[in-house]
Amino acid sequence: MDNITALGGDVYEIDTRMAGYSGITAGYLILGDRPCLVETGTSTSAPVVRDALTALGVGAGDLATVVVTHIHLDHAGGVGDIAGFYPEAEIVVHEKGARHLADPSRLMSSARMVWGDKLDTLFGELSPTEPARIRALGDTGAIDLGNGRTLSSYYSPGHAKHHVGLIDSGTGDLYVGDAAGVYLPQTGDLRPATPPPDFDLQTALDSIALFEALGPQRLLFSHYGPVTDVEEILGRSAEELRIWVDLTRQARSQGMDLDHAVAMVRERTQERYAALKADEATAEQFELLSGAPSNVAGILHWLDRVQP
Ligand SMILES: [Zn+2]
Repeated sequence: MDNITALGGDVYEIDTRMAGYSGITAGYLILGDRPCLVETGTSTSAPVVRDALTALGVGAGDLATVVVTHIHLDHAGGVGDIAGFYPEAEIVVHEKGARHLADPSRLMSSARMVWGDKLDTLFGELSPTEPARIRALGDTGAIDLGNGRTLSSYYSPGHAKHHVGLIDSGTGDLYVGDAAGVYLPQTGDLRPATPPPDFDLQTALDSIALFEALGPQRLLFSHYGPVTDVEEILGRSAEELRIWVDLTRQARSQGMDLDHAVAMVRERTQERYAALKADEATAEQFELLSGAPSNVAGILHWLDRVQP
């Protein structure tokens, strides 16, 4: 299938094709004795993911674990559907996200407030998972991949308060979720992901430092794909955060409202990203992944909290 890429070490990248787009949302299958899916993608992606797993030889009774880095709908919206397709799978998530997977009603109503009618086309509806199948992670945790191989989780808030990074003892791959920003492989661009309501600068920087300290061999971005220049890219992640925060802070101190702040930050950061100078489709992809309005709104929300 053309949405599956073998990455070595029995790891397969699956393009989950959010809302029909290619190359914006990745899930990963670690195919050992105990197959583990990292990120489900959205609810509407669940059939795409199931087809990919079938093509990789993982049948309904074979999937041992589903783990999500955090419960934003582009990462975890498909959990309920995937749990239904794979009745043996344990569903693993940080403890601050667990109850939302069991009862998604609050998560869905706040998502609907943010996205309005676009919610249905972009994400679809997260369906509930039986609480007995959910395992909640604390500050650290471990997933047995079989044959002595382990996927270890590390709490990494900043982007979201229910975010974990996951490192594979077999490959040194670190699944970074959204904690290191979003990466666009076509252009090598990296932009922060700082949405409301959880973004917090110092916490986000601490999570990036934690990722560095874990000494990963490779970063696997949910948006999008593998990166082997680990130090350089994590350095960029921190730098990008600082730049977006500095500019948003300036806009705020000049008394700008959200729209003006977004316009100002967008204009002052534009030169940094090749994607925005590329073809229209690439620019649209990049904007969809890490939109300036969402980033600036998240930073303003945080500033209002810490410097009212
Ligand atoms: Zn997210």
